[in-house]
This record gives sequence, structure tokens and C-alpha cells, in this order.
Amino acid sequence: MKETIYTIPVNEAFDDLSECPFCYMVKKLEDEGVEYALGAAMMEPDYRVLSNEKGYCNKHFGMLFKKPNKLSLALVMDTHFDELRKKLSEVSKSSRQYADTKHGFFKREKQDPIQNAKKSIDQCNRSCIICEKVDDTIERYIRVFFGLWENDNEFRRKVETSKGFCLPHFSKLLDGAKKYLGSSKYAEFCKMICEKEEAELERVHNDVHNFTLKFDYRNHSSKWGTEKDGPVRGVEKIAGYIIKDNK
Ligand SMILES: [Zn+2]
Ligand SMILES: [Zn+2]
Repeated sequence: MKETIYTIPVNEAFDDLSECPFCYMVKKLEDEGVEYALGAAMMEPDYRVLSNEKGYCNKHFGMLFKKPNKLSLALVMDTHFDELRKKLSEVSKSSRQYADTKHGFFKREKQDPIQNAKKSIDQCNRSCIICEKVDDTIERYIRVFFGLWENDNEFRRKVETSKGFCLPHFSKLLDGAKKYLGSSKYAEFCKMICEKEEAELERVHNDVHNFTLKFDYRNHSSKWGTEKDGPVRGVEKIAGYIIKDNK
């Protein structure tokens, strides 16, 4: 396959044997995105314009905040606040306008200026420059995944011996299969991946269940097995990877 720049990270993720290879890719992209935002991006005017306009979601602000470089974070926020305050002042202006006008007028017109002006704040609350980049790259990785699955037997074996996927990425793969595979390959892939996911979900469920049994006094002296980290793998299987404090 020609797109080595994308096939390498996809292959690497499947070599890691985590609960979800796509979460492994997401984590790597997020870590790189956070490093970049507080490092090289500080000198990239185009990135700064986007960062000021779109900002970051709660998760990625959290990751930025965990980095020791608080000066970079403050510089990023300093110019982002300028944009946010401009948007807020528009809402504020509209609210004054509304207060000064007969309210019935706006009701009749269905043109409440406060609700209209706040749309730019809503948009900013929903946007995140790291999320956008990660989503875009993961979509490319999904396309590469299907190219590899169709043409590379070694890769197909890796998929079949993987630990399956978190449920959000499992669902994304079914979407991707519809998009990128012809109908007979689509049927073959969906059958394989559904059987795989059922078995892997059962495995993690068993670990979670056995974890609960360890708290029964009758099992207290038995040794911990794979259920030891059942809760974290359960969360990651259901919802995707989470940031753990000890990492
Ligand atoms: Zn995942
Ligand atoms: Zn984000």
C-alpha cells in the first residue's frame, strides 16, 4: 500500500494489543496535538488564528492544563479570551437592545436577538481544534484500515487476533465498512467483526464480573487474575480510553 505514512500507525496500533487499537491511535494523536498546541504551534500564526477562534473542549483543555508549561497555556488562552469576549459583547449588546424594545416585537418576528447572538458562543463551546484534527486523521486511518484488511493477509490476521474495539469505534468501523467495502466484502467483514466483538465483550464482562466476586469473603484469599484491572478495561471497552492519573 502506497500510503505508508498512514499504514505504519495503523499497523503499530494493532501490534499493541490494547482493548481498542483505534483508541490507541486517538491517544497518540491527542498527545501529539497537546504537545504541538503548547510548543511549535505558538509560532504558527495560522494555527493561532484557529485556536483563538475555536478553542478546545473540556477534555483537551484538561490535557493542556496537566502539562507543566503554564505560560504557554496562558498565552494560548490570553488571545482566545479576546475572541470570546467579542462574542460575549455581541450577546450583551443584543440583550440591551431586547430590554429597550417592546418584547412582543421580537416574539412576532421570531428573531430573538439574544438567542441569535449566542449561537456564536454555542459554536465555540462545541468546537475544539484538537478534536477536529483527531477526527479527521482517524477517518483517514479507517479508510487505510479497510485497504489493509482487503489487501494484506498479515494485517487481516492481526485484526482477527486483536482484542476487538471499544463500542464507539466498533460502530465507526461498521460505518466505514459500509462506505469503503463492496457488498460481499462488507458482509464478510461485518460477520467477522461482530463475532469478534461479541467474544471480546464477553471476555471483558467476565473480568468485570469476577472483580465483583473478589469482594465476597469466600474468595478473599484467592489470587488476582485478569479481573484485577477489569473495571478500567470495562470502562474503556464501553466508552473508549480514559486518562488515568498514574500515567
Ligand atoms: Zn476505541
Ligand atoms: Zn477536544
